[in-house]
Amino acid sequence: MTGIYIHVPFCMRKCPYCDFYSIVYEKDIADAYVSALKRNFGRYKKDTIIIDTIYFGGGTPSLLTSEQILDIISSLRMNFVFAADIEITMEANPSSVDLNKLCEYRNAGVNRISFGVQSACNSELSALGRLHDFEQAKEVVIKANEAGFNNISCDLMIGTPRQTLESLLDSARELARLPINHISAYMLKIEEGTLFDCDWVRSNVAEEDDVCDMYEKLIYTLETAGFKQYEISNFSKINKKSRHNLKYWIGEDYLGFGPAAHSFYKGVRFYVPKDIYEFISNDFQEEIIEEENPCLADEYVMLSLRLNDGINFLKHTQLGGDSENLYQRARVFDGSGLVELSTEGIKLTTKGFLVSNGIISELIN
Ligand code: SF4
Repeated sequence: MTGIYIHVPFCMRKCPYCDFYSIVYEKDIADAYVSALKRNFGRYKKDTIIIDTIYFGGGTPSLLTSEQILDIISSLRMNFVFAADIEITMEANPSSVDLNKLCEYRNAGVNRISFGVQSACNSELSALGRLHDFEQAKEVVIKANEAGFNNISCDLMIGTPRQTLESLLDSARELARLPINHISAYMLKIEEGTLFDCDWVRSNVAEEDDVCDMYEKLIYTLETAGFKQYEISNFSKINKKSRHNLKYWIGEDYLGFGPAAHSFYKGVRFYVPKDIYEFISNDFQEEIIEEENPCLADEYVMLSLRLNDGINFLKHTQLGGDSENLYQRARVFDGSGLVELSTEGIKLTTKGFLVSNGIISELIN
């Protein structure tokens, strides 16, 4: 089955570390954006595509009104076939929702919500330029639960300015006490050209070795609190993995709509240019082919090693006859503590996750 990703490119203001594509929210542009999305869905009407996940990412999808979200979901329903157990996720900022809006989103069909909480420490939140404090975040998570969301995720950021091991683990424990069943924990990356690309930030973030230590202790803390790691950055309670995000890692089809959205569909990778005005004014979104014939075996190695389950030689056909070669290449890591290797498959250990790029490039070369 196919997933749908919708990039909602609006934010109240730009966070200083962020390089995702977004512009400042304006109602007229948002209306034109919704109309453009609907035109684009219409292209697939004849194809009878069954979809089992929809993901509103951004940007800040929760800046759209519940009417706009309902309009988008209804239009998707007219052009695609919805699986009975469809997962519909919306990313939300704690500062842009209240109980009423959350109830309306739930009634519109959204059944999973992912809050950009990032930290339970208010000084860290203000260093990140976030518009909420932790009390507000806690309140909206509880309200989301009251509104009928029983599938709630929160983001947590590792390695932010002045964060300590203790403050990170405190944040993890605070989040784990909330009525949520999924946590995504991402390491801060200083992106070129953002306001965080400066000496002050570099001199106030933890050293790389300390960040690795923080990551390992965070995994232990979250697992102790019932959130089992299933991917480098993702943790969930039983049966609460993000079904949409899993599609990226197991190589299933997904179609992306909106500026900056990426797709993998029928073996081709393509993306939409980062330009809201072009997206609105074109009849249909421009789609630029990134890779016409990606090497599926290499992609499978790259993506599945992000998962705790790793590569299973027996279950997966994408490797073709290459599993013996892969096994031999992986033997270089025998005894390193980075890889678990057996005749059934390959998995990265926690230490291996920290240097996954290096390991993967050894395995696919
Ligand atoms: S709200 Fe999210 S998408 Fe928008 S600028 Fe901040 S981090 Fe980036």
